[in-house]
Amino acid sequence: MMRWTEFAAKEARQTLAAWEARVGAIQLPIAVEDLADLLYLLAIDTTSDLPSTLAGRLYAEQRIIEVRRSDHSQRQRFTIAHEIGHYRLHVIAEGIQQKYDCTTESVRVLDSAEDQAYNLPLPEFTFQKGISNSKSSDLDLRRREIEANTFAAELLMPAHLVEAAVHRDGVDINHLANLFDVSRQAMRYRLEKLLFLPTPNAQMNFFTDL
Ligand SMILES: [Zn+2]
Repeated sequence: MMRWTEFAAKEARQTLAAWEARVGAIQLPIAVEDLADLLYLLAIDTTSDLPSTLAGRLYAEQRIIEVRRSDHSQRQRFTIAHEIGHYRLHVIAEGIQQKYDCTTESVRVLDSAEDQAYNLPLPEFTFQKGISNSKSSDLDLRRREIEANTFAAELLMPAHLVEAAVHRDGVDINHLANLFDVSRQAMRYRLEKLLFLPTPNAQMNFFTDL
C-alpha cells in the first residue's frame, strides 16, 4: 500500500519529469515560479496582506499562490513549492477545489523523525473525488500539510541532483544550500533523509524500535 510521503514524493518526481520535458535539462536552482506558471498556470502574488499566522495560501480556482512578502527568498521558494504540492496532490489528484491556508508552522521541511512518524498508509480518497471538502477531518488536514512539505522538499532538492552534487563537491551544507537555493536547515534535513548525514538520535530510535 502506498504511504503519505511516498505518494507526495512520486508526484514531485513526475512534476520534475514534466518540467524537464518542457525546459530540457533541469538547471539549479529549480525555478519554482516558472514551473508554477508554465506547468500549472499558477500565478505568484508576493503580498503583505496575508494574515499574520500564514506563510502562504493557494486559491485553487483562481490559480493564485500568495506568499508572504517579508519572508526571505528561500522561505518564499519553499512556500511556493509547498503550494504547488497542494495543487498537484490535492486539487488535481484528490479533486479538492478550495482555498488552502498554510500556517507558518505547517510550511516547513520535515525532519526525519516526523518523516517516519507520518509515513502512514494513504487513505482511499478516489471515491470522494470532486466532493466538497467540508467534512475533512483533522487527520486529513494534517496529512495534506505533510504531503505538501514532502512534495516541496523533493521538488526543490531532487534526490538524484543532490546525490550528484554531493559526489562532485562533498557534503558541504552551505555550498549545497546555495546551489539549490534553500535554507541550510532544509538542506540538512534533506541530506539526513538521503543518508548523507547521520540522523540525530538514530541509534536511540533504533533501540526503542526493537
Ligand atoms: Zn499547506
